[in-house]
This record gives sequence, C-alpha cells and structure tokens, in this order.
Amino acid sequence: MVTEQQLQKHLLKVKNSIAISAEKVNRDPASICLVAVSKNHKVDKIKYFHKQGIEIFGENRVQELREKYKKTTEFNLKWHFVGHLQRNKVKYLLRMKNCLMIESVDSLRLAREINKRAAKNDRTMPVLIEVNVSGQESKFGLNPTNTLEFFQKAASFDNLDIRGLMTLAPYSEDPEESRPFFRKLVEIKQNLDREGYSIEELSMGMSNDYTIAIEEGATIVRIGTALFGSRY
Ligand SMILES: *Cc1c(COP(=O)(O)O)cnc(C)c1O
Repeated sequence: MVTEQQLQKHLLKVKNSIAISAEKVNRDPASICLVAVSKNHKVDKIKYFHKQGIEIFGENRVQELREKYKKTTEFNLKWHFVGHLQRNKVKYLLRMKNCLMIESVDSLRLAREINKRAAKNDRTMPVLIEVNVSGQESKFGLNPTNTLEFFQKAASFDNLDIRGLMTLAPYSEDPEESRPFFRKLVEIKQNLDREGYSIEELSMGMSNDYTIAIEEGATIVRIGTALFGSRY
C-alpha cells in the first residue's frame, strides 16, 4: 500500500526534477506538460493527484480508461490515450469529451478512423504520431523513414489536429542511454519542420528517463511509476 504521504513525496520529487532539468537547458518548467500515467492504478490515487493539482492523466487501454472516466466524471479530469489503439475501439475515445489527445497514432489506417469518428462527433481530435525510433520489434510506431510520407498522406484528414510526435526509448537502467533516441525524434521533427509541417509537441520521457528527455526538448513527459509507485 502506498500512503498519501508517499504519493505527495513522489509528486514533489517529480516536479522538482522537472524544474531542475528544464532550468539546466534554459527552458521554462511551466512549458513542460506532465501526463500522470495511471494505468493499473486505482481511482483513489488519481483523485489524490487531481487534488494536488495534476490536470492530465494517461491510460493505455480503452476499457480501463472508460471505467475510470465513468468513475471520475464529477472531477472533470483530462485524459491522454497513450497505448496501442485498435481501430474498432476508436469510437469510444472520440465519445469522451475529456479525452483530449491520442498520443499513439501508429498507422495511416488508424489516423483515418480517428478522423472519421472525430467528424461524426463534430470535433477535431488532437493527436501525436508515434515513431519507433529504436526499431525494436516490441515497440509500436512508424518507421522513422516513413514519417514524411505519413504527414503528406494525413494532410487531408480535416478532423485530425496533428500536434507532434511521440516515442518510447528502450528501457535501460541508465537514463543516459535514452538520449540518442530522444535526439533522433528531435531530428525527425526538424526534418518535418523543414518540409513545412509544424510540430509543436514532443512527447518523450517516462519515469526512468524524463529528465534526459526534458534536456533534449520534450514538451510532454508521461510519468507513471515515479508518481504512483510500482504497477506490479
Ligand atoms: C506505462 C507507460 C508510461 C509510463 O511508464 P513509467 O515507466 O511507469 O513512467 C509512459 N508511456 C507509455 C506509452 C506507457 O505505456
């Protein structure tokens, strides 16, 4: 059991580390969006962090998000979807007004479906394009060499607001090992910028490597364990 005192300590530590990393590279800590990834954790912890001022929570399974969404309607929480998404489940996300972003768009077919469902729900859906910078087979995301073609083809999806890119670095004990993968995502962003696509957001960095991600330019960090404790 994790106590509220421990959760508070976790939060202070994360906020402090975000500030230190940002200042190290002359960035405003307030410009970094913290997504508290609550997967596998109970709603009471989510409510606690909400009370402490956390605004955005992240989930990676549609069913789990739907359940938590229902249980927290009175709090008006904001959600990002961060996991691999099957096309037949897109409709559930688009019906949730407070599902503000899908960070894990990893195929054109998925983008097309989100666009279609967004139109049906009379909204524009902010999304990030997930890129598999490491090439690990266990990871989802576009092959980096296909990103430009993806952006060209997705340009006609009027109800999709492509805000940026997302990636996961391979897990390592040493966060420094994530740095080259984050740099790779920045490089892909710069290439897209040169082609005239404006990439505002870079979602990179998790509990073990968010400080490095911030140094490399992350605008969104997705943090689970460092806030909620172990999932297992
Ligand atoms: C679980 C998850 C996270 C958070 O992972 P931690 O290591 O617990 O911080 C971030 N992003 C995605 C896509 C995840 O699935």
